[in-house]
Amino acid sequence: MSAVTVLCSCAENSQKDSRKLSIVTTIYPYYEFAREIAGDNAHVSQLIPPGSEIHDFEPTPKDILRINDADIFIYNGGESDEWVEDVLKSINSDVKVMRMFDYADLLYEEDIEHNKGDEYDEHIWTSLENDKKFVKAISEEIIKLDTPNKDKYKTNSNAYISKLNKLDSSFRATVENSAHNTIVVADRFPILYFVNEYGIKFESAFPGCTSETQPSIKTVTKLIDYVRKNELPVVFHIDNSSESLARIICEDSSAEIKTFYSMHNITREQFESNTSFISLLELNLKSLKEALG
Ligand SMILES: [Zn+2]
Repeated sequence: MSAVTVLCSCAENSQKDSRKLSIVTTIYPYYEFAREIAGDNAHVSQLIPPGSEIHDFEPTPKDILRINDADIFIYNGGESDEWVEDVLKSINSDVKVMRMFDYADLLYEEDIEHNKGDEYDEHIWTSLENDKKFVKAISEEIIKLDTPNKDKYKTNSNAYISKLNKLDSSFRATVENSAHNTIVVADRFPILYFVNEYGIKFESAFPGCTSETQPSIKTVTKLIDYVRKNELPVVFHIDNSSESLARIICEDSSAEIKTFYSMHNITREQFESNTSFISLLELNLKSLKEALG
């Protein structure tokens, strides 16, 4: 008789134990991690729908109920998730709340002149080192709520961490063996954690995820000159944003436009075709190899 059968044969626990764990996350990366760890043993859902902008999200009463009914609620922390703090005041105290900022190594925001700000940059999931910590922490909380299946969760989280380790080594090797060490991102810049981890330098049109859409002439000129002078092969734009500025920066140079996936969210099409966090990291690796030469 398996451990699950033993548990379910105990009448007073049967209802609770036969019910799947419910895990609700605000954004895509944590949805993916929880799903990879829990597999079919949990119902994992992403509160901010695929294809939506996470920075101006406001929860509906139905969203608040979903958080209230969850066994585990995972959110990022930081500026875009300020709405969460209010919601948490009104929900059930038996929801296990995980704020990923509490598990991350944090970096201060940086402007396009590379001056540090006094607030933390919120895009913590773009660091693979942080991601490994998140996977471990989420796995530990799932195990606390469903201990009989702990071996499965450990196997799944270790397998996922191995994939992240493999990619981490590949990113490191790419940077070590490259001709250039600077990337140009003709867009917002939500990948500070990523570049910091590998010592990649950057020039960008905007800092972080500012709502600004018009860079100054000075910035545009600086980026164009940088790409031409250094004969950079690639100019990046960020996923779910327009390529228009990248096109201007590439004009009259031999640079190609590539997408860098920051993975705040994925599109509805990516969601329906089961696009994975790992597969998007692999695309980033391929583009980075071309960008650094
Ligand atoms: Zn952002």
